[in-house]
Amino acid sequence: MPQLVLLPGKDRQLARQHPWIFAGAVDRLEGRARPGDTVEVVAANGRPLARAAWSPESKIRARVWTFDPQEIVDDAFFKRRVLAAVERRLLLPELREQEGLRLLHGESDGLPGVIADRYGDTIVLQLTSAGADKWRQALVRALQRATGCARIYERSDSDVRRLEGLLPVAGWLLGEAPPSPLSIVENGVRMRVDIVAGHKTGFYLDQRDNRLLTRLLASGRRTLNCFCYSGGFSLQALAGGASQVLSIDSSAPALATAVENLALNPGLDASLAEWREADVFSELRVLKSHGERFDLIILDPPKFAPSAAHAERAARAYRDINVFGFRLLAAGGLLLTYSCSGGISRQHFQEIVADAAVAAGRQARILRHLAAPADHPVGLGFSEGEYLKGLLCQAD
Ligand code: SAH
Repeated sequence: MPQLVLLPGKDRQLARQHPWIFAGAVDRLEGRARPGDTVEVVAANGRPLARAAWSPESKIRARVWTFDPQEIVDDAFFKRRVLAAVERRLLLPELREQEGLRLLHGESDGLPGVIADRYGDTIVLQLTSAGADKWRQALVRALQRATGCARIYERSDSDVRRLEGLLPVAGWLLGEAPPSPLSIVENGVRMRVDIVAGHKTGFYLDQRDNRLLTRLLASGRRTLNCFCYSGGFSLQALAGGASQVLSIDSSAPALATAVENLALNPGLDASLAEWREADVFSELRVLKSHGERFDLIILDPPKFAPSAAHAERAARAYRDINVFGFRLLAAGGLLLTYSCSGGISRQHFQEIVADAAVAAGRQARILRHLAAPADHPVGLGFSEGEYLKGLLCQAD
């Protein structure tokens, strides 16, 4: 096996079980390896440390499969890892009943670059690293065996593949398109999942718990849902008895799905919902200039800072929408505000929101810290896994 030799002192991150080996930590590769091949990672003094997938094109030169330098990376390895991850999803009662569930959460499930989301009996697989890409078939076999699912669709068209020198790939890996459009029931609300053209794998499973929280808080509240996508928060707010829900997104197809989702749930009163195709940054200003007020506001923007390099610009964007969020809140109103940027830490986000309240001239407090549900575990040595953070705030 080729050997990836680290520079002296550059094995510290690895010792803390952080699975990424950056270019700056690498001394040399001994032997030949193609992208995705398994290499043995050794310290400068030759001590074996781990086995990892080689990715010469990426700044993350290798991603660790196993911190046991003896463990063989083969079909059986993926069967073990996938089965362990699927069994982990059975530990918590609230996960057991979900039709939409993240089965594999990359690094935090010991499978760097591998995402798998289950929607009923269909799994959507997203491979974002050279190593993951190489083991596609092993992953398909392992998923099939661990879940019994009849269909696996690949949605490896994320931009991050380019950083690994990989082209976009999409298509059926197992079975074929189901006869009718896919949908799941999430906390009592039916939602369509467009696995082919929707965002990510089709649905934002990471906000499941927070959408449920919205439902529990919405009764009698005039609600504003910014960046609504297919209407997940909006429909839960309606289910929770919101007096009115205004939802904003810049994507016409996302809004069309949202309208369709509302129609799929005849128990919800569609006359209380308004959908607006607009840029949230400018629409918030328009709402303010019209003197509008809301009792519950949700801000769930896209990833403004994919990495720390974008943090400063992203911080300004978060601040801007949160200032207007606070300005539009009625007295005693609730703000549910999120960041899914890996480049913004939880603490940094809290500081941004605190600044925004001050700039809006509002006194506010945190009622709850919010995160992704348990099917999005966070490896203890991998803080990047905690990309989604949120705050439930109440303003005077
Ligand atoms: N809250 C959603 C997920 C939001 S994803 C859910 O629970 O499913 C982010 C959304 O923001 C996407 O739908 C995208 O179309 C939208 N978006 C991105 N930039 C925007 C902008 N400047 N104004 C309005 N919508 C925007």
